[in-house]
Amino acid sequence: MIKPDAVANGHIGSILNDIIAGGFKIVAMKYIQLTSESAGNFYAVHKERPFYADLVKFMTSGPIVAAILEKDNAVEDFRTLIGATDPKKAEEGTIRNKYAESIEANAVHGSDSDENAEIEGNFYFSQFERF
Ligand code: ADP
Ligand code: MG
Repeated sequence: MIKPDAVANGHIGSILNDIIAGGFKIVAMKYIQLTSESAGNFYAVHKERPFYADLVKFMTSGPIVAAILEKDNAVEDFRTLIGATDPKKAEEGTIRNKYAESIEANAVHGSDSDENAEIEGNFYFSQFERF
């Protein structure tokens, strides 16, 4: 996902360029705004964390871009491309280093395992929306 901060700050194009330049194929993509219920479900693994309510509010604050990306070793390589959760700790040149505002408004989401990539892809896309 390209999160609401990066969309509002005009970074959709730059982020997609970095993703494509990084060797990822865009298999599916949509531009939508999450409801509280859907954002709450997406981040349900974090529901006991102190930042959960704020995160749900932030993720529903404006439109996002959701996408499924394909590449060998995609999960690990995408997390390298985006950098650390906290942009202050993200390496120079990473997407979060260049475009994120804060540890919460950190520009992009990346799945943390192949299993979760499958679940998260199915959250947004039907079989007829993947190419
Ligand atoms: P990542 O997105 O790097 O996988 P996590 O899965 O740990 O990071 O957290 C999910 C999202 O929750 C983060 O991308 C960020 O938007 C938010 N978040 C994580 N930690 C904090 C925190 N300490 N304070 C506020 N928001 C946070
Ligand atoms: Mg995560």
